[in-house]
Amino acid sequence: MTIRHLEDLNLGGRRVFLRVDFNVPLDGRRVTDDTRIRAALPTIEHILEAGGRLVIASHLGRPKGERKPELSLEPAAALLAEMLGVGEVTLCDDCVGDGPRKVVGDLRDGQVAVLENLRFHPGEKANDENFARELAKLCDVYVNDAFGAAHRAHASVDALPRLMGEKGAGRLLQRELDALAKLRNEPTRPYVAVLGGAKVSDKIGVLEELRQKVDTLIIGGAMANTFLAAAGHAMGRSLVEEDKLPLARALLQKADVGAVELLLPTDLRVADSLESQNPQVVGLDGIDGRMALDIGPESAALFADRVRRAETVFWNGPMGLFEKKPFAAGTLAVAEAMAACPGYAVVGGGDSVAAVQQMNLASKMGHVSTGGGASLEYLEGKPLPGVEALDAD
Ligand code: ADP
Ligand code: MG
Repeated sequence: MTIRHLEDLNLGGRRVFLRVDFNVPLDGRRVTDDTRIRAALPTIEHILEAGGRLVIASHLGRPKGERKPELSLEPAAALLAEMLGVGEVTLCDDCVGDGPRKVVGDLRDGQVAVLENLRFHPGEKANDENFARELAKLCDVYVNDAFGAAHRAHASVDALPRLMGEKGAGRLLQRELDALAKLRNEPTRPYVAVLGGAKVSDKIGVLEELRQKVDTLIIGGAMANTFLAAAGHAMGRSLVEEDKLPLARALLQKADVGAVELLLPTDLRVADSLESQNPQVVGLDGIDGRMALDIGPESAALFADRVRRAETVFWNGPMGLFEKKPFAAGTLAVAEAMAACPGYAVVGGGDSVAAVQQMNLASKMGHVSTGGGASLEYLEGKPLPGVEALDAD
């Protein structure tokens, strides 16, 4: 497979379709977190400096194939204009049809237009080839910089690039692929994975795959509850996925005979309610009908030790209900160990990344992945449609 870099593409004087992830959180017409727009700037600036006529496209929210004014990309386009230091960035009234064709036809070298929300058309999610052909009429070159959408076979990510002769990856996508390829192909050992978060069922694939790849597999968060229940502990009112108990039991058995070290919490922070201000630290058999909402200090120290001594470490999923301060200690301990780890530390997943950012530790990581679902599917070894479609061979 050959994926071209920006530098390999002929951009000057040409209409460049750039698929970005401007799926930003909005409060009315205000963008409340501009991380995703900022993250696309290096690619945008490169294309403009090369004299490309830039056509930016993204999805935003779930308009379900209909025009929803509250999900317009207008606030994102306004913020982009501000960041680029230009007076205004033209927002087309649609993403296909005569309007955008006129706007894009009028672009001069180094100018930029933003297309309206791709998901206002059902063809986007349906990966509709006719819709992709309409998009293709707007461009000569295709660049994908939306890693967060790369695992979805949608028209702007899959069908469109398949129609295009000249195509490649933007800087953000390239950086993600380089970072995650290191984990998938040549992790320096010891390789440690820390998995947590809400549910086992969200992450069975990655759990199965990492189990066979890592030296140490650490499981925390609500995910660990199901494993602890499978091991015979009474979990009280903790989140446990009953239907995943057989799977957890099987994984525990395989770990027993295999080469992987599987670590589960050895103590827990429990409380009667999610609002509790004074949780109690207990051993695995001391839950007594309450809820396990974080790992305990002994577990945190054990997990942090393994993480600090790793040469390669991947972390997805918080160790507890970290959004509430009384249950944030386990997640903080893992985040700090990741930051202190001299090896290559990668964090992926929406809530895990939010935790790391909230703790001001993002800059200390080897890589912070912008794509939750995409990074997990990539590590599972699944082909990502948005990456496969860029293959220039
Ligand atoms: P990510 O987005 O990083 O992949 P998930 O979405 O799988 O992570 O899980 C994150 C959520 O899991 C958080 O909202 C967190 O509060 C919750 N969580 C983690 N551990 C527990 C627990 N022991 N009890 C209840 N909720 C938990
Ligand atoms: Mg999440």
